Amino acid sequence: MATIFSMIVAGEIPSYKVAENEQFYAFLDINPLAKGHTLVIPKREVDYFFDLTDEEIGAMQIFAKKVAEGIKRAFPCIKVGQAVLGLEVPHAHIHLVPMQSEKDMLFTNPKLKLTPEEFKEIAEKITNEIAYDLTPKSWTD
Ligand code: AMP
Repeated sequence: MATIFSMIVAGEIPSYKVAENEQFYAFLDINPLAKGHTLVIPKREVDYFFDLTDEEIGAMQIFAKKVAEGIKRAFPCIKVGQAVLGLEVPHAHIHLVPMQSEKDMLFTNPKLKLTPEEFKEIAEKITNEIAYDLTPKSWTD
């Protein structure tokens, strides 16, 4: 059975999309630690992050970098933190969280409750700040 994240990629269940290319998809975490909390996933369904190939991890990290740059421009913060947990959803993903302090990365923190309109606005704001074409040809630019 497909993972919930594969269903998101397929458009079978909705998501607040931030960016995508042939290999990867970025969308807002539905239980955000902070405004702008985004998940980056490979379209290929792999559970454990470190089971991705070396090439996939490299390319995924470059894609996540572009997304993180967009998050930081849209939601000014000290740094965008990155975490890989994967204990809940068995489909590899990188969490990108704008941080004002170390505490913003605590996954035990209460999550923000946002309206669909707020989620939509946040996703659009980040998308608009991703200045790069996220197709592989641009990665060497
Ligand atoms: P983990 O597997 O522990 O890294 O956590 C999975 C993350 O996916 C959690 O932060 C959830 O809030 C998030 N999540 C689960 N389902 C969805 C969904 N349908 N849309 C967006 N985020 C989701």
